[in-house]
Amino acid sequence: MEPVILIVEDSMMFGRLLERSIINGLGFQTVLVTSYLETEKLLESGRLPIVALLDYCLPDALDGEIIDLCLKYQVPSIIMSSSFSDDLQESIWSKRVLDYIVKEGAQSIQYALDLIDRIVKNSDIGILIVDDSKVARNSIVQDLKPYRYQLYEAANGMEAFDILNASNGIKLVLTDYYMPVCDGFELTKKIRQVYQLDRLAIIGISSQSSQQLTIKFIKHGANDFLIKPFNREMLYCRINQNLKIVEHFDTLRQITHIDHLTNTSNRRYLFEAGDIIFEDSLRTGNFPIIAMIDIDSFKTINDTYSHQTGDQVIRTVAETLNRSIRKTDILSRYGGDEFCLICRNMDITGAPGKFEKWRKQVENLSFEKDGKTFHVTISIGLCLEKGDSFMQMIDAADKKLYEAKQAGRNQVCW
Ligand code: GH3
Ligand code: MG
Repeated sequence: MEPVILIVEDSMMFGRLLERSIINGLGFQTVLVTSYLETEKLLESGRLPIVALLDYCLPDALDGEIIDLCLKYQVPSIIMSSSFSDDLQESIWSKRVLDYIVKEGAQSIQYALDLIDRIVKNSDIGILIVDDSKVARNSIVQDLKPYRYQLYEAANGMEAFDILNASNGIKLVLTDYYMPVCDGFELTKKIRQVYQLDRLAIIGISSQSSQQLTIKFIKHGANDFLIKPFNREMLYCRINQNLKIVEHFDTLRQITHIDHLTNTSNRRYLFEAGDIIFEDSLRTGNFPIIAMIDIDSFKTINDTYSHQTGDQVIRTVAETLNRSIRKTDILSRYGGDEFCLICRNMDITGAPGKFEKWRKQVENLSFEKDGKTFHVTISIGLCLEKGDSFMQMIDAADKKLYEAKQAGRNQVCW
């Protein structure tokens, strides 16, 4: 179900413009109401939106009362008005709204759309707040809550490091300096040994009186710093800015690691990840299983049914395999009609049976072209033994794949 955005705006023209922009630009659902009373009825009914865009001045609530109403129902709100005095800005921020927007046409609408999009996506982003003072932590948590991040808390560096390793999706750590057990610098140093600057942002917090600390934070590997006391707007701007940079790196990585036909990882990623997994298994003794998988007589499929149909076959085979494997397994397009699969923590004795099941799943797929139905098969070669390197395990699996092809195709060899 798409997220629902509430718009409270008494100018029907502006309200409709916002509504259309949100539906067309973001694909979210909208509810448009024009008064305090209508909003109250809607919220009382329990239909709570994910974000609300609120006109500060409504005919039946002239002085921002609509903000308190939405706050009561914990609906994150963006406030719109034709102008904001400094006093008004301050009073709005103190109410923990998401942001405020001056109604100035296309530019402010785009700003609102970007903000809404971000708030919706924030629920996948983890932020870890590290401070030994529960009061300080709590204040940051309360400030960030409306933005819908997943918030984690730790009372010292040790605890923080454990939480970081146990949770997926933490993209930013906000850490104070003075803490028992492991201070902010130690934590930053420790984190940087494992997580690079482009994967996880660290913002150090220090006080006005110790400017030297801020420099030290950066030297230890922090991306940015905040000087206490800071207001909520400053906190949000810094967090947002640093998260955007990490996100850009994520996007870049995706572009260079993804095979565009199948959406699986590509060969480049396979070797990067495979080498790390192999190194890791030298330490743990827990070696992965490597499978080379190739579509049988694929040239004939291209020649008989067209190259586009061939593409569709490659995509469907990838999707079928992807649905069966575990999240921790890595399926890559090795090239043309060939895939490589790295399976971690798979029981060796049960492995051939598993691959046999997946082979059958592909055999049972039906394809259609110009009213004609056809089927495809795959051959699979497995390396079930520890090799000298990741590449050598791939070679061993490839030899078994060759055996499967020689033995008549549509089978698993190991
Ligand atoms: P075998 O059973 O021995 O694997 O026979 P095969 O015909 O599948 O032989 P091979 O694996 O060598 O052929 C792969 C073919 O895949 C050759 C190439 O033209 C075709 N191919 C490579 N990349 C693509 C692609 O992206 N899309 C399509 N449609 N075909 C591709
Ligand atoms: Mg082939």
